[in-house]
Amino acid sequence: MHDPSRKPNRREPFALRPRKSSGGQTIVFFVMVLVILVFMVVWNFDLHKILFVKSLTQNAGDSAAIMAARWQGITLNITGNLNIMQALALSAEDPDAGEAINGIQARLNYVGPMIAFMAAQQAAKNNRVRRNPGFDALLREHARQVREDYPYVTAPDGEPLFPEPYPGAWPEYASMLELIANQGVAAGPDNARLYGDRTGGHPLLTVGFYEAIAGKNWCWFYNHASSLLEDYEDYRWWPDLPPPPHMEYINSEIFGLGLTRLETRLDSMVSAERMDEAVLNSGFPGSIAETALTNTAVWYCYHPRAWSAWDAMATSGPDPFPATGPVRPQYDYAGADAAVRISEATTRISPGREGAVVTNTITWTAAAKPFGHLNESDRPNAYGLVLPAFHEARLIPLDASSVPSGGSYDLDWREHIENHLPEYMEHGPRPSDCWYCKQLIVWERPGFRQEGVDWLLLYSDRCTVPSGPGSHRGGGRRRAH
Ligand SMILES: [Zn+2]
Repeated sequence: MHDPSRKPNRREPFALRPRKSSGGQTIVFFVMVLVILVFMVVWNFDLHKILFVKSLTQNAGDSAAIMAARWQGITLNITGNLNIMQALALSAEDPDAGEAINGIQARLNYVGPMIAFMAAQQAAKNNRVRRNPGFDALLREHARQVREDYPYVTAPDGEPLFPEPYPGAWPEYASMLELIANQGVAAGPDNARLYGDRTGGHPLLTVGFYEAIAGKNWCWFYNHASSLLEDYEDYRWWPDLPPPPHMEYINSEIFGLGLTRLETRLDSMVSAERMDEAVLNSGFPGSIAETALTNTAVWYCYHPRAWSAWDAMATSGPDPFPATGPVRPQYDYAGADAAVRISEATTRISPGREGAVVTNTITWTAAAKPFGHLNESDRPNAYGLVLPAFHEARLIPLDASSVPSGGSYDLDWREHIENHLPEYMEHGPRPSDCWYCKQLIVWERPGFRQEGVDWLLLYSDRCTVPSGPGSHRGGGRRRAH
C-alpha cells in the first residue's frame, strides 16, 4: 500500500536515491517519513470520494465501523513501515533518525485513531444520520478533562497519573477531540476506553446484572455470580467498585490500536530473513545490517493482552460462539477493532395516546476490525513487532468486539455508572427515572432474591449451556450487529 515504487515518478528521486554519508541517510529517512504523511493526507482525500459512492449502499453503523477499522489498519501499516525504517536507521548507525522515528510513531498512535474517528463520522453523516447532541456533549466534556485534568492528576505517590506519551500530547489530543465534537458526533465510539473508566469486574458495572433482574433471568446468576442471590444482604454488602485499571498511556482512548513500546533487540522478535523480506516488500532503499538486529532500540509492538487469541469467537469452551466452525488460524487474534453506536430520536408520525407526540430512540451498533496476514498465512501479529500486514476491514459480531459491558457511548448507562452508582453505594437505592436504578430497587427486596434462590433449587439444570456450534442459548447476548 505504501510502496513508493508504485507512486508517481516525481517522488522517486527523493526517496530512492542511494545515500552514502550518514547525514544523507538522515535526509532519506525524513523524506520517507514525509512521504508517509503525504499518503495520509491523500488517503483522507480519497476517502471522501470512496465514501460518497459506497455509503449509499450500506447502513450508517456498518459503514462507520468499517471506515474506522480501515483507518486502524492503515495506521498499523504505517507504524509497521516506521519500524522497518527504524531497522534501516540502525543499519546506517543513525540514532537521531531512530529517535525521530519513535517520536512519529508515538504521535501516529493518537493521530491515526483520530482520523478513524473522524472518518466514521463522515460515513455516518453520508448515510443521513445527524449529529447526536448528547454524543457531542460527552466528547466535549472529555476533551476538557484531557486538557485540564490529565496533565495534573497525580497518583498517591505524587507521580503523574497519566504521563504524556510524547511531549505536548494532552493539549494536542484535546484539540483533536474538540475538533471532532465541533463538527458533530453521529457515530459514538462504543468501544472507547477512557483512561478514567471503570471497566467491569463488579456486577454493578455489568449490564447483564440489571437485565437479569428485569427479566428474572435467574440463570444469569447461576452462570455469572452463583452465590450472589443468597449472600447479598443490602446495598452496604457490596464490595467497593474497582478503580479504573492502570495501563500504559500510549494508545488512544478511542479506537486505540493496543500497541506497546518495547526496548529490545530486533533479533529477539524477528529473524534477519524476515526483516530482509519486509524491507524488500516495503520498497525502501537499503538493507538490514547486523547492528540493527543486535543493538537495543525502541520498537512498536503488539501488546500481548490486546492481541491475544480471539477468545470471543471460540466455538468450544464455557461460552461457545454459535459459528459454523472455528476461526481460521490466520484470523485468530483479538487486537484493534472499532465499535460504533448510532442513536437517533425519531418522532412518530401517528400520534400516541391522547394525541401526545411519541418519540422513539432508534439505536444501531456495529463493529469492524482490520484483517490481514504476513507471508500469505501468518497472523499480522506473528512476530510481536508491528509490520505492514493489514489489507482489509470487515464487520465482526458486536459480541466478538472489544466493546465493554453497556457500551462506552450508551449515555444512560454512562450516566448511571458515573453519577448514580457512587450515590447508591453511599445511600442505597432511590426512586429514579433511570432504568438501571429502578432495577436496583427491585433487587433490594429480599422476596425478589428468594424467588430466584427457590427457582434455581428446582431448575438450575436448565441453565447449563450445552457446548458445540449452533447450540448456544443466547441469554440476551448480542451476536448480531
Ligand atoms: Zn441510574
